[in-house]
Amino acid sequence: MTVSSSETHPAVFLDRDGTLMRDVDYCGDPGLVEVFAGAASALRQLKSSGYKLIVITNQSGIGRGYFTEDEYRAVEQEFLRQLGGDLIDATFYCADLPDANSSRRKPAPGMILEAERAHHLDLARSYFIGDKTSDIECGRNAGVRTILVQTGYGALAGDCGADWTARDLTEAVAIILRTSR
Ligand SMILES: [Mg+2]
Repeated sequence: MTVSSSETHPAVFLDRDGTLMRDVDYCGDPGLVEVFAGAASALRQLKSSGYKLIVITNQSGIGRGYFTEDEYRAVEQEFLRQLGGDLIDATFYCADLPDANSSRRKPAPGMILEAERAHHLDLARSYFIGDKTSDIECGRNAGVRTILVQTGYGALAGDCGADWTARDLTEAVAIILRTSR
């Protein structure tokens, strides 16, 4: 098969806290990182189906001064270590405060659009999985299909306009594999 430089890839954009790992509210300590059981095998299925896996995470704990950028990176390292196997292609994070009028902080689509350019992604074939209304709005603002998971804060999100609701990441991945085009 010839691979041209204009080839694009479908992606699954993933919220981190409450979707891939336990949400402890402003995690600045690697010792508190707890990746959900089943997350790695679910992501492996997506990867072998050709999806780029991109984490999109609001980290206003940095902007609020709760933890430093270095502490954020230490948490990120531990998160990737527990997940294992080079599953995540890239992570985009936003330190902005909620009132910052940010083009990047979810629900704004800025981080997805950066990822689209950097990784040659096809948003029309892509999905966003997250546990908050802001995740679903972010996906919709970028024009990707959305799945609300009921882990983390997902049970509180109510009817937030997601295309699908799933019990957890494993069920969300099953939805993607069933509906991909
Ligand atoms: Mg979350």
